[in-house]
Amino acid sequence: MVEKDAGEVSGKALRLEGVAASEGAAVGPVFVHALEEFEPERETIPEGSVEEEISRFEAAVEAVVPQLSETAEKMREAGNEDEAAIFDAHIELAQDPELADGVAERVRNLESPESAVLAVGEQYAQMFEGMEDEYMAARADDVRDVARQIAVEISGHKAAGLEALREPAVILARSLAPSDTARVPKGMALGFLTAEGSKTSHVSIMARSMGIPAVVGVGQKLEKAFEAETVALDGTEGYAIADPDPDTLAEFERKEQRIASEREALEEYRHVEARTGDGRRIEVAANLGSAKEAADALEWGAEGVGLFRTEFLFMERDELPSEEEQYEVYREVAEAFGEKPVVIRTLDVGGDKDLPGVEQPEEENPFLGWRGIRMCLDVPELFKPQLRALLRASAHGNLKMMFPMVADAEEVRRAREVLEECRRELEDEGAEAGSPEVGVMVETPAAALCAADLAKEVSFFSVGTNDLVQYTLAADRGNERLRHLQNAGHLAVLKLIGLTCEAAKEAGIWVGVCGEAAADPDLIPRLVGLGVTELSMSASSIPRAKKIVSEL
Ligand code: PEP
Ligand code: MG
Repeated sequence: MVEKDAGEVSGKALRLEGVAASEGAAVGPVFVHALEEFEPERETIPEGSVEEEISRFEAAVEAVVPQLSETAEKMREAGNEDEAAIFDAHIELAQDPELADGVAERVRNLESPESAVLAVGEQYAQMFEGMEDEYMAARADDVRDVARQIAVEISGHKAAGLEALREPAVILARSLAPSDTARVPKGMALGFLTAEGSKTSHVSIMARSMGIPAVVGVGQKLEKAFEAETVALDGTEGYAIADPDPDTLAEFERKEQRIASEREALEEYRHVEARTGDGRRIEVAANLGSAKEAADALEWGAEGVGLFRTEFLFMERDELPSEEEQYEVYREVAEAFGEKPVVIRTLDVGGDKDLPGVEQPEEENPFLGWRGIRMCLDVPELFKPQLRALLRASAHGNLKMMFPMVADAEEVRRAREVLEECRRELEDEGAEAGSPEVGVMVETPAAALCAADLAKEVSFFSVGTNDLVQYTLAADRGNERLRHLQNAGHLAVLKLIGLTCEAAKEAGIWVGVCGEAAADPDLIPRLVGLGVTELSMSASSIPRAKKIVSEL
């Protein structure tokens, strides 16, 4: 997809290109939600009122937390577990002792608590923003959101905005915080169009789980659409048209009808076993980031978990999770899936992430740095508790494990040695342990080119196309300007996947794909054609993937 400049389409219509964040099409009146920056009225406080002001901060946190829990509860009751989890995380942020300490320190220096919470929140947000992982970087807005809510509460103002929406509309905003999205009365958001954001921003996650079309990251051009009366938005293709002409309106009406009937037709595919016309069985699995998502994924028809990202377990907290805590989580997800396979990926964090308990160097190129298996091999106190937890949890289900960011067979051999060491330790301790299959992610060109060597060491490959694309095409996966190069259908990438499949076939092991490409309707036939037998994706994409496979 090549980004076009906003420009006239016809008449006064204006086309905006962005990220296809949540599928579907919508046409409706424009509602501009200008995120008002909250300006505290007081910067400082008089001497002698420090304790009183600290108490006001604490009272504000106590007032905000029940509001957040209520929203989380509402989401949970509506079956929106993903959204509920966002608000759970907000509660944790609001109650974070470091936030409280930071605010108290500033208040002791006579800064007003509302100004202090915004400042400390901003420090946190910038730390998140500096992280290479797109998902973690997107968490910056959560911190700002929580800090803003507390500041507003301290000052006694009430935030106004989206809750006032009385007519279904397409919501335009610079960015949308989860608390904004949650305030939209039911049925009033036809679509979301934002200047900022990526596929993993909250507005995108929430839009997907609410089934509302969204286009994000259209940039400053969005402001040109603020004056429009109507917007037509295509969240599948990733563009919007402000003030569409009658032809565009008719085209969108056809689109909306087609999408509605497609959704209906997909229902019957949720729980089928996908098989190609020539009888090849393709397993369609879900990518998960927490055990809480398991039930939802099963409902969408997940035949297993192709990628369980463990980094969230490590990052949204102050200290490393213990072996016991990890064991509970891995066991919970393994048990939820019963006999179905659950592939858990060992920790994959990059060199610029502040992982508590691990000293990390400053790196010029964190994407090419000390991350994934490289870090784990160097830090046994990080790696071993995870491997021990995985071995123990694998006694409770069909658990498999895989190593990320592998570039060399020697890394796999070393990782397996550590795994064996953990197994021996557990045996000596008399602890229960299973024998999970071990695989590697193919997400560096080196891994694909040396797949024959790697295949000797493992039982399966899982192709991480998100990283494989960025490393093959030398195009940062988060750089919006390089969107046209972020293409897993590029011949170079397909050749590498082909090599991986050939080597796997030769060695008699299976290949899955767990990057975004696994859910791409245009790529599924090519991946299956190359020999991939497992596709893992966000759960809501599962029925369509099964349909595509069944029609091959
Ligand atoms: C990938 O790189 O394709 C992948 C699935 O891993 P992540 O997106 O977590 O880097
Ligand atoms: Mg990756």
